[in-house]
Amino acid sequence: MKSRIAVYPGSFDPIHDGHLDIIQRCVPMFDEVVVAVLQNEGKSPLFSVGERLEMIRAVLAEFPSCRVESFSGLLVDFMDRVGARVVVRGLRAVSDFETEFQMALMNRRLNPRVETVFMVPREDLAYLSSRLLKEVGSLGGDIRGLVPETVFVRLRERLVKRER
Ligand code: ADP
Repeated sequence: MKSRIAVYPGSFDPIHDGHLDIIQRCVPMFDEVVVAVLQNEGKSPLFSVGERLEMIRAVLAEFPSCRVESFSGLLVDFMDRVGARVVVRGLRAVSDFETEFQMALMNRRLNPRVETVFMVPREDLAYLSSRLLKEVGSLGGDIRGLVPETVFVRLRERLVKRER
């Protein structure tokens, strides 16, 4: 039987517990889950792609069926390269729906073999976004327990350095 490979793409700047919840739900559903970090220089990220890959790999070390890679260009081309047909996206709220809907249909047009699967996180994680965590963290708010501990330490260091 062909293996079922899913790609979970995003910025992951940095990875947080909402992302992790989605990944953990995917693990039993697919033979392999490829977490794909988008290289998008335009977004002026807090962490480099290399740093994000390293953090995600450390957090996912306990899941042997998860692989972490970066990509640039079209997602559907990356999916062909890794032999995946399923894109996983997390849906937080209705506000996510419109852009996700557009992207899913565009990706289908670009490659009709690609299917997008939407997943819903645990409700107490549904409000999390990397942007909000960085904003609250930079203002001194307590974000411990919303990101993996290793990420919390790196995030605190980076936000303090940026303030100086
Ligand atoms: P963020 O918005 O946190 O920066 P990304 O742009 O890296 O996240 O998004 C990667 C994927 O993870 C997207 O499908 C996004 O909808 C999903 N996602 C992000 N945060 C959450 C969350 N709290 N719960 C469920 N899915 C999420």
